Amino acid sequence: MTAPLGPTLRIVIAGAGMGGLATALALAKKGFQHVHVYETAGNLGFVGAGIQVAPNLSRVLQDLGAWDALKDDVVEMKEASTYSIRVSATNEELANVKLTHVAERYGQPHCVAHRSALANAMYQGCRAAEPHVTIHFRTTVVGVDFDETRVLVKEREDDGEGHWINADVVLGADGVKSVVRKFMLAQHGEDGDVKDTGQAAYRIMLHRDQLAHDPELLAFVESNTTFRWIGAKRHVIAYPISRNTIFNISTAQPDVNFAAEPTATWTTRADKSAMLKVYSDFCPLAVRMLELVPEGEVCEWKLRVHHPLRTWVEGNVALLGDACHPTLPHLNQGAAQAIEDGAVLGVVLSKLTDLNDIHAALLVYEASTSRLRKARTEHLVEEAAASGRALHLTDPEAQAARDEAFRQVKHGGPNPDRAVDREVQDFVYGHDCMRDAEARFDGYFAEVKGR
Ligand SMILES: Cc1cc2nc3c(=O)[nH]c(=O)nc-3n(C[C@H](O)[C@H](O)[C@H](O)COP(=O)(O)OP(=O)(O)OC[C@H]3O[C@@H](n4cnc5c(N)ncnc54)[C@H](O)[C@@H]3O)c2cc1C
Repeated sequence: MTAPLGPTLRIVIAGAGMGGLATALALAKKGFQHVHVYETAGNLGFVGAGIQVAPNLSRVLQDLGAWDALKDDVVEMKEASTYSIRVSATNEELANVKLTHVAERYGQPHCVAHRSALANAMYQGCRAAEPHVTIHFRTTVVGVDFDETRVLVKEREDDGEGHWINADVVLGADGVKSVVRKFMLAQHGEDGDVKDTGQAAYRIMLHRDQLAHDPELLAFVESNTTFRWIGAKRHVIAYPISRNTIFNISTAQPDVNFAAEPTATWTTRADKSAMLKVYSDFCPLAVRMLELVPEGEVCEWKLRVHHPLRTWVEGNVALLGDACHPTLPHLNQGAAQAIEDGAVLGVVLSKLTDLNDIHAALLVYEASTSRLRKARTEHLVEEAAASGRALHLTDPEAQAARDEAFRQVKHGGPNPDRAVDREVQDFVYGHDCMRDAEARFDGYFAEVKGR
């Protein structure tokens, strides 16, 4: 159904990351004709990493028409695909979870992709929707006026005070350091500080030719398998992307470098020797893999989250993605949830027939008492943190109990790695966020209006 307010509603989105691009695309698909996205970066930003495209995400991408542009780039986890959890020091396999059930059980395959391919697929969809969608690169949102529903933007450092952009709806998709969140919290007299997880992550990509001399590692990039080596306070996860031409590696370890330099940015080129030192007690295979990374190509991220917000909505302004539910990456769902948010915003705003109901529609999107965004995403943030705690255990007895639980997975036991636990997968993968929003909108909307 085309949105009744599609021809007139003015929508401003702060940030053209995963959530911002998905939101713009979802709105264009619903027939909105005045969607303006403001993005600080001069292009699609830092995109050099792999991303797990779980069934809940591939379902949304199909509904938004972005799947066709992505599908040739992904590695589909099918047939012999598994998720292999190993002891970091010995390479002993604790659990080998088959992923073949995924497509059958959830109606969509589990894939892994290059983050830039995912961003590009959504970006191409936005470009095709021009002039209804316009992405303004090199433009930063520096202020929000909640009473007038407008944002202050600056195009360059020397842009003076900047200029105001009027809108009917403002959506803050400006990531974990969101200024829209900062202004929203200030409006409520609350503090917007992010919570330090004490963790950081290295993100690395090895091209197939860098592995060609090593048959064991070459087999990994050809295997359609996700590998997770777990050790005290640390783990390494690796999987092939881009049609098995790249082996994507991501780690999690205690943060030392950012903590020592709190003023540093949250992403930085890292020192290879420091990385190798952190993982020096991992098995020779994992160390060999890390040693292949060229000097200067190690990137370190500070992992940050923040306390759940009381609300994501103020007036006609709403938050989405990492701006309101940043997560540890251990469930591989941060981008997927940001994209689900955007898709649901497309649904709820498309139901509007009256400008005076925008705030109510945004409350339906948030719907904190239901699975319609807030409760769902905050539950997944908790699951990701719990998974990290289980993977990074330090006490030998607790580790032994966890490892035994991993061994029991093949007999139907719960999986301590929540990303591959069947119950968690049912909750995450089984959810069709757009159909759910379509089905529930009227009931929730009546409830919000009746308050
Ligand atoms: C190590 C690691 C591994 C991960 N792996 C996965 C995975 O496998 N699967 C998964 O689903 N997720 C993963 N994630 C999480 C995922 O990257 C994020 O959750 C996701 O990018 C959030 O999307 P977003 O749109 O909210 O924010 P972002 O994608 O960060 O986009 C925010 C955008 O806003 C822009 N911006 C910021 N401030 C302003 C401003 N004031 N004005 C204008 N523009 C602004 C930024 O430049 C940026 O482009 C991982 C994260 C990490 C750290």
